[in-house]
Amino acid sequence: MNRTPGTRVLVLNSGSSSVKYQLLDMAGGTRLASGLVERIGDGPVADHAAALKQVADELAAQGLGLDSPELAAVGHRVVHGGIRFTEPTLITDEVVTAIEELVPLAPLHNPANITGIKVARELRPDLPQVAVFDTAFHSTLPEYAARYAIDTATADEHGVRRYGFHGTSHAYVSRATAELLGKDPSEVNVIVLHLGNGASASAVRGGTCVDTSMGLTPLEGLVMGTRSGDIDPAVIFHLSRVGGLSTDEIDDLLNKRSGLLGLCGDNDMREIGRRMGEGDVTAQLAFDVYVHRLRKYVGAYTAVLGRVDAIAFTAGVGENSAAVREAALRGLTALGVEVDAVRNAVRSPSARLISAAESRVAVAVVPTDEEMEIASQAYALVQA
Ligand code: ADP
Repeated sequence: MNRTPGTRVLVLNSGSSSVKYQLLDMAGGTRLASGLVERIGDGPVADHAAALKQVADELAAQGLGLDSPELAAVGHRVVHGGIRFTEPTLITDEVVTAIEELVPLAPLHNPANITGIKVARELRPDLPQVAVFDTAFHSTLPEYAARYAIDTATADEHGVRRYGFHGTSHAYVSRATAELLGKDPSEVNVIVLHLGNGASASAVRGGTCVDTSMGLTPLEGLVMGTRSGDIDPAVIFHLSRVGGLSTDEIDDLLNKRSGLLGLCGDNDMREIGRRMGEGDVTAQLAFDVYVHRLRKYVGAYTAVLGRVDAIAFTAGVGENSAAVREAALRGLTALGVEVDAVRNAVRSPSARLISAAESRVAVAVVPTDEEMEIASQAYALVQA
């Protein structure tokens, strides 16, 4: 590969109906531009090609056109890398085919990611394009953490195992937490709680992920905005046999109409907080179910890691909801965890500690930056 002279990376996150983009300059670690093209296929933006054209136009209007020699690479977020992709990967025709072969594992996400890749490659065929996978950071899970206890032949035939997601966020936040503590990532054990609309926990030992709460798909684990997280799998048979629901209906129920939304009719923690303030017992129960699950994972990952140096909260809920942070870690002094109420109440866009001085485990709020992480990984690859 020819080493490119530029220092800018365009990060593309192509969803089914939207494209999010950021242009980052790796020389100074600065964000030059960012934007979102929505409602693809519904109105003026006919398809992903039109959406990317719009991205190109928006950048050109700011003097940051895609034809700039400053552009070193395009970094694409790809949700599912299966067992094959454990590192950021330079995109070739063969790589695109391999990502296509993973569509059955991520039917909602990979197709849109692939479309974004294809359109971007047409736009700048000469430019290195790098796929950064949401699953990659979790590829280090020991086999006993990645395996489900089901028949091995059946599991292997269908690729059924725990892959984990939000990997770029867990990677970034675990590293940034070590930085906040003034330590090298190899020296610290961190529990990362990524609480956005989707939510996942991970146990990171010395910079290496050893367990994570999402599994074959992003449905497993924590209670989320609209996803159930962990349930007895027999619930599905029951709803099918007794409730008469189809597979697609149950899929829709557990992914889109469950979690906080299913419990109380709202999936936004701000609205739930407001309702709780008015004494709404349904909203309170949804909050309590959410927090109870979170505590269970903190306990489980404390046992998995043996020694925990830090617990880091990130993403929309983790960064903003002092109430969730306080409730999730309340009464865990026996585990060496104590949140300081005053520090926890401070609102700030910076990484910060919220633990009490006497807390053995540091508790941190660490804003995630998945785009910067994707750009860094893509840039490192094209510079190598
Ligand atoms: P996504 O998974 O879509 O990237 P985000 O990480 O942006 O999600 O998180 C979105 C969620 O963050 C919202 O649904 C909302 O519940 C929560 N959130 C955002 N701001 C606040 C706030 N000030 N207080 C509590 N929750 C918040």
